[in-house]
Amino acid sequence: MPHRLSRRDFLQVATSAGAFGSLGLTAAGAVPPVGDRAAPPSAPADGWFDRPMRWVQLTLVENDPGQFDPRFWLDYFRRLHADAATLSAGGIVAYYPTKVPLHHRSAWLGETDPFGTLVTGCRALGMQVVARTDPHAVREDVRAAHPDWISVGADGAPRRHWANRDLWVTCALGPYNFDFMDQVHREIVSMYRVDGIFANRWTPQGGDCYCVHCRDNFAAATGRDLPRGADARDPARRAFLEWRAARLTELWTRWDATVRAVNPEARFIPNGPPDLKTAGELAPIQFADYQARRGVMPPWANGRRAKEFRSVMGRRPVAGIFSVGLEEPYRWKDSVQSEPEVRLWVAEGTANGIRPWVTKFSGVLHDPRWVPAVERIYAWHFQHERYLRNEAPLARVALLHSEQTETYHAGAAAGDRAGDHVLGMYHALIEARVPFELVHEAFLTPDRLDPFKLLILANAAALSDAQCRAIREYVGRGGSVLATFASSLFDEIGRRRDDFGLADLFGVSFDGRIDGPMQNSYLSLDTDPRTGRRHAVLDGLDDAPRIINGVFRIAVRPVADFPSPLTLIPSYPDLPMEDVYPRVSHTDTRELYLRDLGRSRIVYFPWDIDRTFWDVLSVDHLRLLRNAVAWAANEPPPVQVEGPGVIDVTAWRQRDSMTVHLVNLTNPMMMKGPLRETIPVGPFRVRVRLPPAARPRKVHLLTAGTILNARAAGDLLTLTVPSIELHEVVAIDL
Ligand SMILES: [Zn+2]
Repeated sequence: MPHRLSRRDFLQVATSAGAFGSLGLTAAGAVPPVGDRAAPPSAPADGWFDRPMRWVQLTLVENDPGQFDPRFWLDYFRRLHADAATLSAGGIVAYYPTKVPLHHRSAWLGETDPFGTLVTGCRALGMQVVARTDPHAVREDVRAAHPDWISVGADGAPRRHWANRDLWVTCALGPYNFDFMDQVHREIVSMYRVDGIFANRWTPQGGDCYCVHCRDNFAAATGRDLPRGADARDPARRAFLEWRAARLTELWTRWDATVRAVNPEARFIPNGPPDLKTAGELAPIQFADYQARRGVMPPWANGRRAKEFRSVMGRRPVAGIFSVGLEEPYRWKDSVQSEPEVRLWVAEGTANGIRPWVTKFSGVLHDPRWVPAVERIYAWHFQHERYLRNEAPLARVALLHSEQTETYHAGAAAGDRAGDHVLGMYHALIEARVPFELVHEAFLTPDRLDPFKLLILANAAALSDAQCRAIREYVGRGGSVLATFASSLFDEIGRRRDDFGLADLFGVSFDGRIDGPMQNSYLSLDTDPRTGRRHAVLDGLDDAPRIINGVFRIAVRPVADFPSPLTLIPSYPDLPMEDVYPRVSHTDTRELYLRDLGRSRIVYFPWDIDRTFWDVLSVDHLRLLRNAVAWAANEPPPVQVEGPGVIDVTAWRQRDSMTVHLVNLTNPMMMKGPLRETIPVGPFRVRVRLPPAARPRKVHLLTAGTILNARAAGDLLTLTVPSIELHEVVAIDL
């Protein structure tokens, strides 16, 4: 049975962890070890929020009223088996007969009410309805009546809209949103009793606002003038970022209270929270607005966004907004993307636990090719819904998601982009076929951490003392940690510490120096003189005497005993060619620190293996990372998948079943879409660890529609998936 930590258990953990020396190790048996507990993430909120599995969004354009055909859309929603719709109501343009002064009715509205027509139609289909507003721009009449509602640039001039010069950008943090849009939201919920209000672009748009309200409110809150610089490590800028987030949170709660006062079942749902922590604290449901790939981007970016939201939302629902068109900076909003590309993007979201939400702009179709493609995606989703209502992920590895590192840590060294460490680690885990989750820095509590055996810190540079303590206590409860580079070398606002916050865990101290960028440096793969063998982290590299190093390294001093599987070969000239020979062929400088603490294992890479992996994708670095994850986890993985190609593997538990999703990313367009075609791969041998005492009643493939002859031995189920076209799901009925 799942065991949830009571408050008393938690206090016991906290107390005992403090009592056992600098490592914070608890005595064996003081608390159940990590892994014996499967604490459920936070439960879904009460209300309608968890019911819709498939969402649709229709964003009308101003001349749609009288021109578009609501019957076409309602019939399409029915064919999609959509459970909920988000429909344009007001803000920049009102699509209903509003009575709020200065709320601009569509010039094509006449006596019609297209919003009301769609609401009635959706209700008849049994759908939930959320009204969409967009408060970020207004017309000249609004500016003339209320010049103080308009956003002001650093030059003191009111801000014209960057894409439509006839419009003005509104100040998001002043009376336009707090008063005017509050009235609009009250009117919409009062007239139509919708289930929620969803505001698009509700945060400051087009740059920071220097209007009189922002100036006065910021001064009243902080005693400071609005900052002009963009450096987040400047205390004035940090004060501004914190004030802005607090002001947006205040706006969220204001609108939410207004909505609830009219309809207690309804909520305000922002498109994009001020930060994820706030979403975790306030939201019963969230929508991840990440519509398609752009530029160079792997398809797992959509799954990553799903994991980010889940790291704060737990079991509360998250829908993934996807577009059917291109998402490039040129913004072809009426375009149509290739069907395989849309399918892959949605499959990545579904495999990672978000619910599909198709968004379309314009009620008049300029290119209908996407219509049957989305219908096919939704039909599959509807058919297999019971296997998509996940209760918990079965991943045993978690990667720390650190918003404060993104905000306040500029990189430990020039050219070191902090975000690239996470991208590299993410990609390595995908290639290694490790099911994993993200955990958020604001929620490092036992109930969030302890479902995982291994926590990965991919250059999680900015960590507070309390966060370091929470990680130490997690290790005390039997958790393992794999950390890279500058993890914990900075505090939560990006100030460098004298030593790592987790120095005691790593067993090394900062030696005051960061080297790099290094040219032509290597790592020697060494045999343990005591055993005459190489360490398990070097598996698969048997014939390699050395591999390439990273680009940046942190000089550290070991303060404990360590094995020495990997040592530094310092840079030597890479030109002229006559000079390219190692000046020092071997050193005793370890570039990998491995600690075995019994149940827990600690791995620390003092170099940027993850960032360099994202940069150059060295297969040797992949092997090293894969082995290090397996060694640190120190337990059989929940799922193993053998076969060709690049596959994203996720695993879930539902009420009466468990599932393994296999998304085929193998494609020449893997790193930059759009996909031209899907390329089936296989066969795959899949081994799944079953929950204790589970007896599989039936094992089947959802996409192929076949029943498998799976072999169960103990808690291990072995089966073969003959081929994966794009997305296959192994469903195990329990
Ligand atoms: Zn302002």
